[in-house]
Amino acid sequence: MSKTIAVIPGDGIGPEIMAATLSVLDALDCGLSYDTVEAGMIALEKHGDLLPKATLDAIAKHQIALKGPLTTPVGGGFTSINVTLRRHFDLYANVRPAISFPGTKARYNNIDIITVRENTEGAYLAEGQTMSEDGEVATSMIRNTRKGSARIVRYAFEMAVKKGRKKVTAVHKANIIKTASGLFLNVAREIAKEYPQIEFNEMIVDNTCMQLVMRPEQFDVIVTTNLFGDILSDLCAGLVGGLGLAPGDNIGEGAAIFEAVHGSAPDIAGKGLANPCALLLAAADMLDHLGMVDKGNKLRQAIRDTMEHDRDHVTPDLGGKGSTQSFGEAIVKRVKA
Ligand code: ATP
Ligand code: MG
Repeated sequence: MSKTIAVIPGDGIGPEIMAATLSVLDALDCGLSYDTVEAGMIALEKHGDLLPKATLDAIAKHQIALKGPLTTPVGGGFTSINVTLRRHFDLYANVRPAISFPGTKARYNNIDIITVRENTEGAYLAEGQTMSEDGEVATSMIRNTRKGSARIVRYAFEMAVKKGRKKVTAVHKANIIKTASGLFLNVAREIAKEYPQIEFNEMIVDNTCMQLVMRPEQFDVIVTTNLFGDILSDLCAGLVGGLGLAPGDNIGEGAAIFEAVHGSAPDIAGKGLANPCALLLAAADMLDHLGMVDKGNKLRQAIRDTMEHDRDHVTPDLGGKGSTQSFGEAIVKRVKA
């Protein structure tokens, strides 16, 4: 296929891990062209704008973006760029795969869980947050809608079908938060009936935390509301060895942005020390999203094989002696083999 995507290298280690990722994508021969645009500190310095209109236009035009980490300056009243992007494009699904890879310090080696988090409503609303004048009473509102619940649950089931997954678990707290969490659970039950080929179960969020730590292999796809999804997706990242290998996909109707979960890591920027795997795994998810599931799986397998057999080439955070570039080159070789 021939398709142009928006590429945002980003700040700190962003340009290095993006260069490695694009060389692997080229080696995979997936017919992608890149429209490289700027955001973050580099855009602020060059154009006086953290998120230039040209960047938003490019994402809207191509509908797919691969994005490096962006730094939002602290102070100065800047809204997080990532939050702005999410709102601007209504990126309602935050998809966070957690996969075991060899050669990490993870506690488990048999995990393959995708958390699908609702990313526009729930407990993370800007409105409904109040504080009494005397500072003694604070309230926060949780608001779920049928429409918002339905589109995230449907996304999880459709993704499960496309990726050949077997089970979807809806995580909730409907026993206590009866209205908001209850609505989400009811909608999940209804939609599950439309997918008889996918096993469906439901689990209360506190039990889910315990089960994830004790018997994580029972999980396949988890779908849940905003707050629970935020917490569970980091918990799952921890189970497979931390954020260094965690991709994050932000999906909406009109656009999808694929990124690494980690930040710009200015402490190691420009030194060739950054592990490109999280962004590479985001690229694999992007290939899945574009209907190239075989290529996505090939990329994941190449990362896995490189981590297992080319220990000299992996980056120091994984115990290797290699660099961002040597890691990328080793993966390119495996992709081409
Ligand atoms: P930001 O302010 O953009 O979040 P950060 O320094 O907080 O940047 P984090 O992702 O939170 O970045 O990373 C914390 C630390 O983890 C970094 O300082 C870095 O040492 C390490 N780290 C993060 N990402 C990587 C990576 N891809 N490869 C190697 N080390 C990393
Ligand atoms: Mg950080």
